[in-house]
Amino acid sequence: MKFGGTSVGDAACMRRSATIVSNASREFSIVVVVSAMSGVTNRLIDAAHHAKRGDREAGKALANTLRKQHFEALAALVLDESARFSVQQRIEEILSEGARLYEGTALLRELTPRTLDAISSLGERLCAPVFSAALSQMGVAGLPIEALELIVTDSFHGGAEPQVEPTRQRAHSRIDPLLKAGHIPVITGFIGATADGILTTLGRGGSDYSATILGAALDADEIIIWTDVDGVLTADPRLVSEARTIAEISYREAAELAYFGARVLHPKTLRPVLPAGIPVWIRNSFAPEKLGTKITAQGHSIGGGVKALTAIRDVALISVGGPGIVGVPDVVGRTFSTTAQLRAEVLLISQSSSQNDICFIVAKAHSQVTIEALRHEFAQDLAHQVVDHITMDPNIAIVAVVGENMRGTPGVAGRTFHCLGQQGVNIIAIAQGSSETNISFVVSDDSVKAALLATHREFGLGRSNGS
Ligand code: ADP
Ligand code: ASP
Ligand code: MG
Repeated sequence: MKFGGTSVGDAACMRRSATIVSNASREFSIVVVVSAMSGVTNRLIDAAHHAKRGDREAGKALANTLRKQHFEALAALVLDESARFSVQQRIEEILSEGARLYEGTALLRELTPRTLDAISSLGERLCAPVFSAALSQMGVAGLPIEALELIVTDSFHGGAEPQVEPTRQRAHSRIDPLLKAGHIPVITGFIGATADGILTTLGRGGSDYSATILGAALDADEIIIWTDVDGVLTADPRLVSEARTIAEISYREAAELAYFGARVLHPKTLRPVLPAGIPVWIRNSFAPEKLGTKITAQGHSIGGGVKALTAIRDVALISVGGPGIVGVPDVVGRTFSTTAQLRAEVLLISQSSSQNDICFIVAKAHSQVTIEALRHEFAQDLAHQVVDHITMDPNIAIVAVVGENMRGTPGVAGRTFHCLGQQGVNIIAIAQGSSETNISFVVSDDSVKAALLATHREFGLGRSNGS
């Protein structure tokens, strides 16, 4: 069971989540993965950037706020004084580690990816002991564990990849005896460590990924991701108020939604469970009586083909082109080896058949470095006007229409673009992979909501659709 930031956001939320664990533990062996209390990771990262500019106070001020926040939750959840005292000491240790990291950063005015990982991991490390103590207070034996001990990753800081076999071995040898002894391990989400023990993070929102990495490593029967919505919805409820909960969805559909920005799941979440076909549930920790969404290999097909919509913002459209690139064979190859070297994930690619222009989309966070690297790669070609432009448009978004049953169903694209046309939404670029499980298109950022509402209505996603 993984609990996201809002599900451990304060004492009341932690109590609700701990009750879910304690009830389920009567019937099952449970392993818990926790995120940081909501907002904490953002604040840690913000303060790190202040420290990088030489600000020595930001880290100190944040430590005080975090101490207060975690102590308050602890005081409300744990009555036993000696249990509380030992968790307080652990919190102090972690905070003083944090203080040294902030001081070092401010002194050097340098924030390496490795230091940033160490700083951003503090939220999960602070949360796990509190949640674990809350369980123990309820009479179930919680035990906080830092995932550095369990998840072995490569050394790509800020988005590390787990190594399956060593993780499996460590997870079994550490966790199996604890479960046998009746403990409930409470593991920090979001973090891992290299084989040498250097802390890494799995990327923002990565606790979902931690849960499936560990669930797969431990051969779990099921993985439940507890969050603040009823499950996977037909669209982001913050943008489409008519969005409905989907009862069952396939790995593939859920992965497409996650990849195209449905924040409810980290994009890599489903990878570890594919080989063993472990079901993943998305459920609401604020309404545990609701069933939520079940994500399985088969999913559950529905008539119309379209299952859900998603939008990804904070992206930029980069275009490389000019009449001179026609017939130059390596422009495409060089463009994407440049993005690969930067590990800038390319979210969508579109190329017109005249080859005049290759356009693709990356996260805004990667856009500036990508543009610079491309201008460097094509410096000669720009000088000789073989390539006449490398440009970027940051005011765009991708909208994706997702559904496994769209494959072979004629008319989905037609209906999509017809309804957008009727709403006056201009389409900048279009892509559909041959898997036909999604149609994605690029619109200006200010028309995302209109595009979502129009397609949601067109495909009747707000109505009971038998899913
Ligand atoms: P947690 O802190 O539990 O990891 P997140 O904030 O990361 O939670 O993810 C949950 C949020 O994802 C929801 O509050 C919702 O606004 C957003 N979201 C976006 N698209 C969807 C969707 N299709 N279904 C459900 N939630 C979605
Ligand atoms: N706390 C981390 C983040 O905010 C990981 C997570 O919440 O999944 O990115
Ligand atoms: Mg999340």
